Amino acid sequence: MDKFYDVIIIGGGGAGLTAALYSSRADLKTILFEKSILGGQIAITDMVDNFPGFPEGVLGPDIAQRMERQARKFGTIIQNEEVINIEKNADGFTVKTNEGLYHGRIVILATGAHARMLNVPGEAEFIGKGVSYCATCDAPFFRDKTVAVIGGGDSALQEGLYLTKFARKVYIIHRRDQLRAEHILQRKAEGNDKISFIWDSVVTEIKGNNLVDKVVIKNVKTNEKSDLKLDGVFVFIGHDPASKIVEGLVEFDDKKHIKTDGSFQSVVPGIFVCGEVRSGCEWQLIAACGEGCQAALQAQNYLETIKDKKVL
Ligand code: NAP
Repeated sequence: MDKFYDVIIIGGGGAGLTAALYSSRADLKTILFEKSILGGQIAITDMVDNFPGFPEGVLGPDIAQRMERQARKFGTIIQNEEVINIEKNADGFTVKTNEGLYHGRIVILATGAHARMLNVPGEAEFIGKGVSYCATCDAPFFRDKTVAVIGGGDSALQEGLYLTKFARKVYIIHRRDQLRAEHILQRKAEGNDKISFIWDSVVTEIKGNNLVDKVVIKNVKTNEKSDLKLDGVFVFIGHDPASKIVEGLVEFDDKKHIKTDGSFQSVVPGIFVCGEVRSGCEWQLIAACGEGCQAALQAQNYLETIKDKKVL
């Protein structure tokens, strides 16, 4: 396979796939690397009902597949490879993946973010045995069972509501007595008979034998501890940016999101950034897609400016 490209995109979520669509449609030789599933977080989201143009809502995997088809239609090459390292050189960048070396005139980083862990005893041990970070992926395993959702944001409530389609009972355990989630989700959750809230509480331990069978809950106001018997724990306490591969190369904000200028360019000329890994990006599919478009357009401007210089 040809290893020289105009644009190398890292990450195949909404931001990366949109950047790919714009780059390849502008006749730039474009390759996109995704290490797991295309679509990123939308691919594991049940229903997206705030993407313009879909008044009845659209299934996450459905919109992800449509974006993939559209990017491929204009010539984007999509590779299921993990990027390990990015190095700047005289002609652009050398990107090392688990399969080989690729050369690009510019790089667009769209690596997104990954689910934050609780970091309590038992959590890591029971991943896949009752602990999950994706209701859309794992809810069917909990038909007629009792589960807990940790968190009080949009993800916790949206995923908690999805879980009620399968589980007998869904506890939402939140560390405060007020939810962070938007009102429309709060109203839906409060009106759902299968959902009960456990306020002012944190999970301090996850226990079981082969599978999870209880969690230890601490009330943060009284410090009282109690056991809650259940079959599954779904953790939705936010996300961390997937920026490790460029640590030391670009500049981060205090939460390790990548800083950019107004043209979506990092401190390294030729490295553009879009989506949830970028400092300042709103955590919304439409925002990620918008940033993918803008990063790709800015990258095209940049390539124009270096046109007369030596290129690959
Ligand atoms: P989030 O808004 O940051 O909420 C995280 C929740 O987890 C908060 O309630 C937080 O509590 C709690 N939390 C954080 N660390 C914790 C810990 N160590 N132990 C216990 N609880 C902890 O994250 P998110 O829900 O994933 O949402 C992220 C962004 O995506 C938001 O901007 C959201 O609006 C957006 N989103 C939108 C939709 C939608 O459009 N429908 C769906 C999903 C997500 P505190 O409240 O006390 O901080």
